[in-house]
Amino acid sequence: MKAYDATVIGGGPAGSATAIRLAEAGASVLLVDKATFPRDKPCGGGMTLRAVKQCPVDPTPVVEELVDTVELRFRYDDEVVRHAKEPVVWMTQRRRLDAFLIDTARERGVEVREGTTAQIEADGRELVLSGGERIRSSVIVGADGANGTAARTLKLGDGITHGVAYEGNAPYGTVSQERYAKRLVLEIADIPGGYAWVFPKGDHANFGVGGWMSEGPKLREHLQRLCDYHGIPVGALEHLRGHRLPLRGAGTQIAGERALLVGDAAGLIDPVSGDGMYECFVSSKLATDAILDLLAGRTSTLAAYQPAVDHALSPLHKASWKLKHALDRWPRASWQVARTQLLWKTVEHLLRGDLAAPGDQRGLARAPLRALALLGRG
Ligand SMILES: Cc1cc2nc3c(=O)[nH]c(=O)nc-3n(C[C@H](O)[C@H](O)[C@H](O)COP(=O)(O)OP(=O)(O)OC[C@H]3O[C@@H](n4cnc5c(N)ncnc54)[C@H](O)[C@@H]3O)c2cc1C
Repeated sequence: MKAYDATVIGGGPAGSATAIRLAEAGASVLLVDKATFPRDKPCGGGMTLRAVKQCPVDPTPVVEELVDTVELRFRYDDEVVRHAKEPVVWMTQRRRLDAFLIDTARERGVEVREGTTAQIEADGRELVLSGGERIRSSVIVGADGANGTAARTLKLGDGITHGVAYEGNAPYGTVSQERYAKRLVLEIADIPGGYAWVFPKGDHANFGVGGWMSEGPKLREHLQRLCDYHGIPVGALEHLRGHRLPLRGAGTQIAGERALLVGDAAGLIDPVSGDGMYECFVSSKLATDAILDLLAGRTSTLAAYQPAVDHALSPLHKASWKLKHALDRWPRASWQVARTQLLWKTVEHLLRGDLAAPGDQRGLARAPLRALALLGRG
């Protein structure tokens, strides 16, 4: 029976990044994904600069547009346009990014098996691959995303709830490339628990909407509204697709003795932005640290991973929950705060990764953050 230091189930950004980091540190790694790459994943494909800085590889070869302008709009009515000092969101397509990362993993020595599923055996040390091959692994990484089953099999991930998002691509020609060049558009406070967006790409703009799970039946209507406002027939959108956004509740277990969850499998999506790639890369780094400690005999379990993730992400996500509730409960008051230049200062630093969480902001710029925290308190 073949044996590995680590087996990673799922080759999205969380799984590939973990596999790359482990292989670079000298571990023997098997990565399995049921899909064959390139494959698509419903996603806006916006990598914040803070996500780019955490990515184990420079994604430049698969970046299609650099965004330095944010057009923030309130209910298709009021708007404010902010300019960043440098590009703060790098736009890619997941079909391209994920294939690039999985190819990099292969180059770094990871054994990659595409078109393969892995079933975890009861002892948590053996896996059966589709085709029947059995393998042994010292550690298992669940990176199988929002709809994965690894968490349940490993008895982890209780307390994850879900939002939902729906999106499609409008080829340039049906929309103006010039209108969206270097600019992302956010329509906030219109969809409960979410927002609508337009993201520019190489040959199209990505139009999407997301919100609370209960908004699921209305997402088509929300997308129609976005398209109407931006002057394109909803029928012009190609590759329409929806997916769940997993949101980790406080205390949700994401690490066992010899298994852990990364990225969406761990429910690490930011509750207000719906972004998850920053969290994929941060969790891949923390997972790698915990796994290397275990493999080297410095620790006997992976327990240290969970508090490390809490430390890195909880301050940001707690602030995001507050903002999400503020926008739902007090949309107009929240908008008055959100449109200020002072708040943009913090947002820009967060997007750049200069600030880990809004609570780290100092001085006068704290004032709008305090106001939003008050509006969103539980
Ligand atoms: C509509 C939408 C828009 C979004 N926009 C953005 C955005 O602009 N920016 C951003 O940062 N985030 C965005 N997100 C969130 C982002 O897409 C996720 O956080 C990210 O995809 C999580 O990556 P992952 O590696 O954890 O999981 P995934 O990317 O879902 O990868 C999981 C992989 O596991 C594989 N798999 C599943 N089950 C098995 C199995 N049993 N065996 C083998 N393989 C398996 C799947 O084939 C898949 O390749 C968006 C999400 C949605 C739904």
